[in-house]
Amino acid sequence: MACIFCRIVSGEVNADIVEETNNFIAFRDVNPVAPTHVLLVPKQHIESPISLQTLGGEALQEMFQLIDKIAKKENIEKSGYRLILNNGKDAGQEINHLHFHIIGGRKMGRLG
Ligand code: 5GP
Ligand code: ZN
Repeated sequence: MACIFCRIVSGEVNADIVEETNNFIAFRDVNPVAPTHVLLVPKQHIESPISLQTLGGEALQEMFQLIDKIAKKENIEKSGYRLILNNGKDAGQEINHLHFHIIGGRKMGRLG
């Protein structure tokens, strides 16, 4: 299995896990850009945003609840945070397993 995030999901590669649910795992980015930089990853190897819907409505509800839980746990719910999904090469996507970045804990500039 070549995908690094699949290897983290299976436990073959270590990560600093923040939260885990049936369908998702959240762990700290190895190269953080802010005090909080968590990656939220579906356990299934999904590549495109449209494929997220294959998980079903309940899983998507679980995902947004998890984002809220992590924001509260990291104490960035009130100060604010960015939720980023890089898709494709113009967005600078490095890992081909869909993931959201949850970034917060400092003031950020404009995107772009
Ligand atoms: P992308 O550019 O694909 O949206 O973001 C990939 C992110 O994954 C990068 O921020 C990078 O630092 C992070 N990353 C890459 N390999 C690993 C790893 O093995 N462990 C962890 N925790 N993060 C990783
Ligand atoms: Zn994968």
